[in-house]
Amino acid sequence: MKKLVVLIVASFLIPLAIANYENENIISSEDDFISNILSMINEEMVSNYIQTLQDFGPRVTGEQACWEAGNYIYNEFKNYGYETRFLNWSIGTYEERNVEAVIPGEKNESIIVCAHFDSVPGSPGADDNGSGTSAVLSIAKALSEYKNATHFVYTVRFVTFSGEELGLYGSSSYAFDAYERSMNIVAVLNADMIGYTRNEKGKENAIIFDRDNSNWITNIAENVSEEYNLGLAVNRYSAGANSDHWPFLEYGYDAVFFHEYEFNDHYHSSGDTIENMDIEYDVRMTKLIAGTLLKIAQAEVTDDEPPEISIERPLNYLYIADKEVMPLQNTVIIGKITMKINAVDNSSGISKVEIYIDNELKEVLKNKPYSWIWDEKAFLKHEIKAVAYDNSANSAEKDISVIIFNL
Ligand SMILES: [Zn+2]
Repeated sequence: MKKLVVLIVASFLIPLAIANYENENIISSEDDFISNILSMINEEMVSNYIQTLQDFGPRVTGEQACWEAGNYIYNEFKNYGYETRFLNWSIGTYEERNVEAVIPGEKNESIIVCAHFDSVPGSPGADDNGSGTSAVLSIAKALSEYKNATHFVYTVRFVTFSGEELGLYGSSSYAFDAYERSMNIVAVLNADMIGYTRNEKGKENAIIFDRDNSNWITNIAENVSEEYNLGLAVNRYSAGANSDHWPFLEYGYDAVFFHEYEFNDHYHSSGDTIENMDIEYDVRMTKLIAGTLLKIAQAEVTDDEPPEISIERPLNYLYIADKEVMPLQNTVIIGKITMKINAVDNSSGISKVEIYIDNELKEVLKNKPYSWIWDEKAFLKHEIKAVAYDNSANSAEKDISVIIFNL
């Protein structure tokens, strides 16, 4: 409804807008801001980063070249003036670090743009993953003059991981730590292998791997490609455990993985060099990630739609000691009960789910799975209510009545 009203009002304003056309050009809109940032990302910038990373030699986690690449990334962030830090991790006999630079936003909630900078032995790792690392560095460089202004609603974190090729070590450490500290992460944009094409079709397509909780990010990316004429059709696939978005999804965060459409023929070989890449394509993929990041960081996403919510447990059953015993006409619970809520939002993502018993707030759930155990003294009829909020403060609720006997 809101959108319709805007349209009607807008149609009355068109003559005025034409009259003020000259003024309109002077006022720089938020969209100009995004266009400006995207125009700063170019082939020279991207190929310079990739070449430099390639020249370290294979950046194998635990070896000198990987360590030096970490120093290089750290120094680049520092040179742009960012608040920068190494985040040490150790798994098994490996001791390495991730590198992070931050733009503080109005809110503490963070949006992460990330990539791994390590490579496999014997591979120069230009596309895997000099391309993703270059994307993180290029976006950081393009945004460097905005790092101190409170230009963004959300805090932006540029993160590069080591240990990916060993088994997502660096990102697992980061995501685990974030989860332990209850860090609020709105979105994770991971880039891994974004600079290779074989045919014309490769140039015109991008892949984004997501999940139900993160497909709102893919929706934004799709719009960004169209709005900024990036010439990339977005192909969606279900995310798997093949890159650094995965540990974030495992801990319930909304994460997506940007990837080239045609898989690199030189993957994990000595042929993974910049000469075998398509830098023009890599630049457009980098812009796709940058535009998506900016739309979210500025909370520019128009979301007037409430989330979808359903109570998946309890249903119309007899439950005894948290076990489903038999179907009934209504819900009867003897003992405690594990509640399960499903909440999805396609435009801005779910920020939290609240659980109420008889209108008294019992729990706030920020990450999936939205699940809570109700184990309090209760007799006879009670009302269970769940309320889901999206990142644009729209909400939706569901309630059910239950008969309970819990001593
Ligand atoms: Zn990779």
